[in-house]
Amino acid sequence: MSKKSENSAFICINCKKEVVPLSNGSCRNHCPDCLHSLHVDDKTGDRQNSCHGIMKPIGIEFNTKKGYQIVHRCMKCGFIRLNKIAQDTDMPDNFDLILKLMRK
Ligand SMILES: [Zn+2]
Ligand SMILES: [Zn+2]
Repeated sequence: MSKKSENSAFICINCKKEVVPLSNGSCRNHCPDCLHSLHVDDKTGDRQNSCHGIMKPIGIEFNTKKGYQIVHRCMKCGFIRLNKIAQDTDMPDNFDLILKLMRK
């Protein structure tokens, strides 16, 4: 499987912003503005899940290996996933919002 298919632009379902792929080669799966995501993956990037619920950012966790990660929870099925924060890119994640989530 090529890595290209998992790194395409999408429209954010929450704020309707067009989210462009990351320039550093890693997979962008959440909106940099509102940090919302969609439950479309079984494993990160595979687009094999049929839930398609909105994944809401509910907190931030720190992982010594991966750094800060956004905790996403699916509003439809309750599934929880951690996603790496996108930084050092053309469109970095909304840091104000990340700070707000950290204080929760
Ligand atoms: Zn958004
Ligand atoms: Zn779901």
